[in-house]
Amino acid sequence: MANIAVIGTNYVGLVTAACFAELGNQVVGVDIDPGKVERLGRGQLPIYEPGLEEIVVQNLKAGRLRFTLDYNEGLKKAEFAFVCVGTPSGVEGEADTSQVKSAAHSLGQYTPAKRSLIVVNKSTMPIGTGEWMLQALGRASNGSGATFQVVSNPEFLREGSAVDDFRHPDRVVLGGTDPEAIERVASLYRDLQPEPPIIRTDIPSAEMIKYASNAFLATKISFINEIASICERLGDRRISPEYLEAGVGYGGSCFPKDVKALAHMASMAGAHPQLLRAVMEINRDMRRLVLQKVRAELGNLEERTICVLGLAFKPNTDDLREAPAIEIIHLLQSEGARVKAYDPAANEAAREMLPGVELCSDAYSVAEGADALLLLTPWSEFRRLDLPRVAHSMRYPLVVDGRNLYDPTDMVERGFKYRAIGRPVPEAVGAPLAPPAPTVEPVLTR
Ligand code: NAD
Repeated sequence: MANIAVIGTNYVGLVTAACFAELGNQVVGVDIDPGKVERLGRGQLPIYEPGLEEIVVQNLKAGRLRFTLDYNEGLKKAEFAFVCVGTPSGVEGEADTSQVKSAAHSLGQYTPAKRSLIVVNKSTMPIGTGEWMLQALGRASNGSGATFQVVSNPEFLREGSAVDDFRHPDRVVLGGTDPEAIERVASLYRDLQPEPPIIRTDIPSAEMIKYASNAFLATKISFINEIASICERLGDRRISPEYLEAGVGYGGSCFPKDVKALAHMASMAGAHPQLLRAVMEINRDMRRLVLQKVRAELGNLEERTICVLGLAFKPNTDDLREAPAIEIIHLLQSEGARVKAYDPAANEAAREMLPGVELCSDAYSVAEGADALLLLTPWSEFRRLDLPRVAHSMRYPLVVDGRNLYDPTDMVERGFKYRAIGRPVPEAVGAPLAPPAPTVEPVLTR
């Protein structure tokens, strides 16, 4: 069993730390956020991720998992240091690597003298960062005699199913210059059952695999959404995009920033990443399309009450980074609409980010008095809603289903004006509906 330090303990780092501890390793999580470290020590998680809390609590109790602010303590016995700090978008769209640089400096500085440490990069880093890091670690160790190897091990977990993704990865990518270091990292993953496929390569290739993979997935989504928009106009059912999961577009902590960073890297190297630019543009358009659908029914959005079901960028997480709902709500507010919202996990996180939005405790209270309901995150509890109750509590029963969660015919039969993404407008039943005049009474914000 190995001694492992995990640097950065949020979505990726916390899953990595807890799951390696569960495999029997001794793990110390190191973070610079005092509140987070203190709460983690008591078994309180900074994020919502299904199944993670019990693994953290069990391994804290078993003495295999600890958290600290102190690199000295974190590296005292470490043979491996997994770097899991953030690499958000910078002002020009580039990956901001300041957290990686600071972590590399601390790793170099605090690795005990004469110790050999394998630094495993899980964070998504621009191509070339791993090679830079090897030099930076040496410089920061300042002649202590500590030696370093760097292995790039890009992370492919998906928030919402991160624990399962750690336990059953499709593949583990390991890029390095030293075959022995690669094999030592591989041996940590061989404790998983069944053993995952391991792809061995050099550092820049491993770094590129991560960007290429996210760019490919984002391209698939924008491609599907473009086809959906065309189908919606042409009403061609033969190539209906129904099974292609058309929707309000991708969001989250990875696809937006990684596609942007790859396009930025490409431009800086003199390439013309036209496809990636189109992918991003189509994704932006999908947010606006939702508004167009609401406007087409209600006209001017001033004084309209719009309710939003789902805020997180996908179900089973509380992560709001680049969530389509956030941008759509800002657009609605800029057009004078009052917005009410509900998310099963992200309400708390949304409180600061969405001033002026009334956050409700369930789907029925959010629908109360609404002129339109926007379904933006396909949480499974929204599939099981008592739809007649929702229709009854709305002022005007317009539903814009940004995730194609509901059956169009069923929705129309239940009395909704139903609009989705890439699906032709269903035939209305009964007398045509017209929206009532906008309300004027103020909506309270909590
Ligand atoms: P995050 O921003 O949520 O968490 C980063 C953590 O690192 C924070 O807790 C922060 O306090 C800590 N930190 C910052 N600087 C530090 C330092 N110098 N020393 C120690 N701790 C430090 O990031 P995340 O979502 O967990 O992602 C981490 C990396 O993994 C990113 O590069 C991301 O692109 C990549 N990734 C993320 C996901 C995902 O689903 N979130 C999936 C695959 C890959």
